[in-house]
Parts: sequence; C-alpha cells; structure tokens
Amino acid sequence: MSSHPAQNRLQNQVALITGAASGIGKQIATLFAEQGARVVILDLDREAARATARELTEQGGTALGVGADVTDEQQVEAAFKEAIDAYGRLDVMIANAGSQHVEPIHKLSYDNWKKVTNIQLDGSFLSTRAAFRQMMTQDGGGCLIYMGSVHSHEASAMKSPYVTAKHGLLGLCRTMAKEGAEYGIRANTICPGYVKTPLVEKQIPDQAREHGMSEDEVVEKVFLKDTVDKQFTTVEDVAETALYLATFPSSALTGQSIVVSHGWFMQ
Ligand code: NAD
Repeated sequence: MSSHPAQNRLQNQVALITGAASGIGKQIATLFAEQGARVVILDLDREAARATARELTEQGGTALGVGADVTDEQQVEAAFKEAIDAYGRLDVMIANAGSQHVEPIHKLSYDNWKKVTNIQLDGSFLSTRAAFRQMMTQDGGGCLIYMGSVHSHEASAMKSPYVTAKHGLLGLCRTMAKEGAEYGIRANTICPGYVKTPLVEKQIPDQAREHGMSEDEVVEKVFLKDTVDKQFTTVEDVAETALYLATFPSSALTGQSIVVSHGWFMQ
C-alpha cells in the first residue's frame, strides 16, 4: 500500500462506499483501507466489488465486496445488513454511485432521465436511510458523505438529469445534517470537477458529437475551460477530501459542500 503521512486515521471505523468498484469510489475505498478502516465496497457489478475487496485485502486492508443495485430497496437493505452483520457498526457511508447521460432535453427520453436520477437521488435516499437507521442507534453517530459535483452548483448544457440530481443531493445532505444532529450524524457533500474515470472517458465522444468538436477540443474547451490551470481533478484529490470529512473532529462541519475542481467553480 502507498504510504500516507498520518496512518490509521480511520482505525476501528467501518466505511461503506457505493459504486466503489471503479473510479472515485475505488480510490476512496483504497485510501480508507490504508487508513485502517474496514471497508465495504458496494457496487452494481458484484464481481468487480469482490475483486476490489480482494485487492485491498491482499494489500493488508480489511474489505468486503457486496453486489447491489442502489435503486433496488431490497438489495440495498440486504447489502447494508450484510455489511453491519460482518463488521458490527457503520461509521461512514459515502453515496457515490452515479452515471451520466449527455443529450439535449428535446432528444432526451424519459427512460434516460430516470436512469440518471434514480441512481443519484433514489439510490442516495435508500443508502442514506439504511445508514441512518444504524448510525442513530450506535455510540458515536456517523458521517454521511454525498458525491455531488461542480454540477451541484453549476449547470452544463446537455446534462439536465445529472445537473438536476446533483443539485438535489445538496438538499438531501442539508436535511440529513439537521435530522442527524441529535444522533451525532454529520452530512457533507464533495463536489469534484472533471476526474478522468470511466464515467468521463465515456462522455468524451458523446460530447464531441453533440458539440460538433474533436475529442481534444472537448477536453480543452468544455471540460477544463474554466479551471484556473487546465488540470483534471484526480481520484486522489477526491479521496483526500473524503478522508478530511470522515475524520473531522466535531460537528461544526456539517451540511456543507466542498468543491474540488481546480477553481472551476468558486463558492
Ligand atoms: P465510474 O463510472 O468510474 O464508477 C461508478 C461506479 O458506480 C461503477 O463501479 C458502477 O458499477 C457503479 N454503479 C453504477 N450504477 C450503480 C447502481 N445502480 N448501483 C450500484 N452501483 C452502481 O464513475 P466515477 O467517475 O468514479 O463517479 C463516481 C461518482 O462521482 C458519481 O456519482 C459521479 O457523478 C461523481 N462525479 C464524477 C466526476 C468525474 O469527473 N468522474 C465528477 C464529479 C462527480
């Protein structure tokens, strides 16, 4: 495992991350395991979730891979039960699973609208409720983290379901900060800029087609246009932000969103 300045900052903690078999979620799971957390990798792709858990275990961590669709109430309930049965508690839940669809509204089917909003909003509701029910009954409360986006604050053309869902997550997060306070449950949202993961790689050709640009032009003129330094945010940047939120020592930091985007959006 890679070395990190302060090790074991999550010792004795249990963290469940949805959509953790790829991209941002996988890097958070890796960093959290390095920091001593017992990590539950929940993903639609059961085999990839198990493979990620095996990887982290081989690197000296403690991890469990669970297959579940975050939009399916029964599967979410069963996955959280499996996690809590395995590790006895749940300290951090990161609602990270997400997908993207790039199309202008006049071409957008209801199915494609629902695919994006179901995962982000309904999936985050189901994951939050399952985590909250555990956290409210255990000593120490817990920490809820939502994977928002710069698109929680900004809009981009051709991403109406994604922008709508990411804005909606701020509402869920802020409500959880209020409902969670009496149980010691904090809730915050991370809002990354563009990160090179499969989710972004897949949309480069779509955006190129919809904007009538080359793929290089899409990166320069659409993705990184408003950053201060024309840099992608990295999975490591986002994972460090999740660690900061998970280890923050008091409930002073709750109901907030932290934008990690090379200055694309400034609050
Ligand atoms: P990714 O495609 O690499 O990973 C997403 C993971 O979610 C995959 O493993 C996938 O199997 C899983 N998943 C999808 N649908 C699911 C479902 N119904 N149930 C359970 N798991 C499901 O994507 P990523 O870029 O790592 O994105 C992770 C999160 O970060 C998303 O919420 C995304 O919107 C957000 N985000 C990404 C970027 C970016 O530029 N990559 C920027 C801002 C926010």
